[in-house]
Amino acid sequence: MTDITFYGGVGVIGGNKILLENQGTSIFLDFGKNFGREKVYYDDPYLTPRKHEHLLDIGLLPEMPGLYKNDKEPPVDAVLLSHPHLDHWGYTCFLDNDIPLYCGEGTRKMILNYEYSSGTGPSKEYYLANMTKSDGYQVYKDFRSFRTGDVFDIGSLEVEPVHVDHSIPGAYGFIIRTPSETIVYTGDFRLHGPEAHMSEEFIDKAAEAEPDVMISEGTNMVGATPSSEREVKEKTSAIIGDTGGLVVVSFSARDIDRLRTMYESSIENDRKFVISIKQAFLLQSLRDDPSLDIFDIRDDHVLVFRKEKDRASAWEDRVLREVDVKNGREINEIKDEVVLAASYYDMNELMEIDPGSDSVFISSQSEFFDEEGEIRHEKLLNWCDHYGMPQYQVHASGHVMPAQLRSAVKEIDPSILIPVHTEKPGLYKKYMSDIPSEIQLPSLDEKIEL
Ligand SMILES: [Zn+2]
Ligand SMILES: [Zn+2]
Repeated sequence: MTDITFYGGVGVIGGNKILLENQGTSIFLDFGKNFGREKVYYDDPYLTPRKHEHLLDIGLLPEMPGLYKNDKEPPVDAVLLSHPHLDHWGYTCFLDNDIPLYCGEGTRKMILNYEYSSGTGPSKEYYLANMTKSDGYQVYKDFRSFRTGDVFDIGSLEVEPVHVDHSIPGAYGFIIRTPSETIVYTGDFRLHGPEAHMSEEFIDKAAEAEPDVMISEGTNMVGATPSSEREVKEKTSAIIGDTGGLVVVSFSARDIDRLRTMYESSIENDRKFVISIKQAFLLQSLRDDPSLDIFDIRDDHVLVFRKEKDRASAWEDRVLREVDVKNGREINEIKDEVVLAASYYDMNELMEIDPGSDSVFISSQSEFFDEEGEIRHEKLLNWCDHYGMPQYQVHASGHVMPAQLRSAVKEIDPSILIPVHTEKPGLYKKYMSDIPSEIQLPSLDEKIEL
């Protein structure tokens, strides 16, 4: 007998925290930050939750004695992380350091890289890892990484991670076997991405496992825009070709597929690709991963932009050792020869770069939400207005399209289907209502007993 409790990720996109309990073994599937519900109370960076007690009090963290920092005797055996988007791991900082975090090797690298270069978030006692000029890298959490093909036991559970394609590297779905049931968790995935074969492999293995339960994402029930990464490249390349001035592209900083697409579109148009120093640091730490086909920051086609400031932090030093960075004035002098990757947070610096006439802004991320909580679409449009840059929208989603999800569910054919990570669970249920699986809509904090 297994109990499944849903904390977050129900009726909202992201913030998954799914507790599985079987014969004395307890694990969480993801332990994500819930941006939507957090924003009801908080306004980052002016008011942020500084301690786990703050989030406990407003019901954003599960009430479980022992789970959090400085508590004794953790009540769970492990947390499995599906992928490195903040809405899946962002609240792990509050957990007791003794609780092991299982994740793909790519996820571990991306989480640590994020920690080293972020400097925001709750107070220092909650750091997952830290990097200083004197001590180098320090990791405080018990990360245990796996690769596809690994199968491992946690108490009474057998866990089989299988890679899936998503808008960030290192994403996995899980097949979990208890002595009496088989449970499949999709995490976030898509079937139209460059590595669709990985998601297909997951679907095949999940179907073979003949699961009792499938916990499925359902992000794209509204506003699904069918488009592939190849189409993004073609469209972006054409826009760059038609533009005489500066081209600014904005996309999720850790979407490596999009980063590669923008790099290739720049080269096709004989322009250099200017990335931020944070993106350069990320590429540097993923460099030795053989599964990622990504350009090197020392490549002649790449320039690194850094805001003017006096002192470099420890992680910036690592990049500065390898590349020369450009400031706004230097980019201004070559603005018709580059494509600049910039986010909302770089808009002040654009004043110095001074886009001028015949310059455009390409927004290459969802208009609706971002799994890293970094969309400021309306404000971005105000800046485009100010700088006189028309705004193009060119994007391919990180999430599976509705019809493809239906086919996947039919193929996997679980006895019980539970949608999470969707704003429209009712729509999901009606859309799938003719398939043989029994569809259960969980409520927040509710326990489903198998
Ligand atoms: Zn997500
Ligand atoms: Zn995701």
